[in-house]
Amino acid sequence: MDRTKRKDDAGPALLRLQPRKTNSHKGDYGRVLAVGGSPGMSGSITLTGVASLRCGAGLTTIAAPKSLQPLIAQFEASCMTIGLSEDRNGQLPMHARAEIAKAARISDVVAVGPGLGRSHGLDLLIKDLYCDLTTPMVVDADAINALGSRENPLAAPGGPRVLTPHPGEFRRLAHNRELPKGRWTDVAADMAKQNGVVLVLKGHRTTVTDGDHVYSNETGNPGMATAGAGDVLTGVIAALLGQGIPAFEAAQLGVYLHGLAGDLAAKAIGSDGLIASDLLDYLEAAFQQHR
Ligand code: AMP
Ligand code: MG
Repeated sequence: MDRTKRKDDAGPALLRLQPRKTNSHKGDYGRVLAVGGSPGMSGSITLTGVASLRCGAGLTTIAAPKSLQPLIAQFEASCMTIGLSEDRNGQLPMHARAEIAKAARISDVVAVGPGLGRSHGLDLLIKDLYCDLTTPMVVDADAINALGSRENPLAAPGGPRVLTPHPGEFRRLAHNRELPKGRWTDVAADMAKQNGVVLVLKGHRTTVTDGDHVYSNETGNPGMATAGAGDVLTGVIAALLGQGIPAFEAAQLGVYLHGLAGDLAAKAIGSDGLIASDLLDYLEAAFQQHR
């Protein structure tokens, strides 16, 4: 890791968090489009959408297969929703592409993947969006798995891309090849550098790299080893990107604040029964420590 600069301190990136201007309006704080969801997994993309609002996004729209739209609209009154075309399994087909692209054109950032599921059509759809959309994108969960089915998973991104794999998803991005023990950061840094993306390797000490820099995060706790915690992180990073923070710093700040919200939640209510929606409740407090 000689050629990469270590950034163990989130301090400089935290300076990006400025108090809201008195005369500002919601259009100043970014429009987030969250794309995901499938039957049985409607909560994931809702966690992403609500997390983005909790991190200051001005407007958030959740785009999901149309049969889930009424359900998702009831989860959180503050999110707008779009019902997308769906196939006979209730998943997004390739031809939902135009509907997503249309919504992305009026968004500042797209977060894609939580609860998406897998199918051949979906794999094609995600690969297409990854290469064609110029809008900054946070790619998570099954959207990462879809990219993993490409020969060069991260090649030719259409715009700024932050990918947030957990270890299993990272292995899929690396085509299940044997990854050298203790050197995943090096592999990730090379992948990020070669393809001009930011990789967030999630875990106990989440690592963020763009190939030139490596940040090792120190917030967070084992209470966050719970379903949906990663879906929240996707929304956090999307909100920061949507507010104009560059990709590496948005990812760095995002993992720091997400972990801090987890630490504040664990302190207040304990870590054994922590659930992902608790993180949503402590994001604001995490921000307030640094604003
Ligand atoms: P996912 O597996 O996609 O739900 O993501 C889990 C999220 O929780 C990531 O942001 C991880 O960094 C975080 N997390 C999970 N386990 C731990 C842990 N033991 N310590 C700190 N953070 C964790
Ligand atoms: Mg996840």
